[in-house]
Amino acid sequence: MAMSRKIATIGKECVACGCCVRVCPKEALRIAWGISARVDPDKCVGCGKCAKVCPAAVIDLAERSAAAV
Ligand code: SF4
Ligand code: SF4
Repeated sequence: MAMSRKIATIGKECVACGCCVRVCPKEALRIAWGISARVDPDKCVGCGKCAKVCPAAVIDLAERSAAAV
């Protein structure tokens, strides 16, 4: 059976405010080049805390198969 889990994905409208980076309990987020948040799929546990605080509402939690990450 294929395993799947949720992983945060960042939309391109991210304004690099850093709110998500501060709340992530797994340190899975960082701001890349001061432009956009990036998710480390190996660290993200899909808790959704980042999505709740994003003022631009650009974070989605998407199912990803384990094979794809
Ligand atoms: S879903 Fe949770 S673990 Fe994943 S990036 Fe967001 S805050 Fe971090
Ligand atoms: S909280 Fe939203 S807008 Fe701010 S850095 Fe994270 S993804 Fe980008």
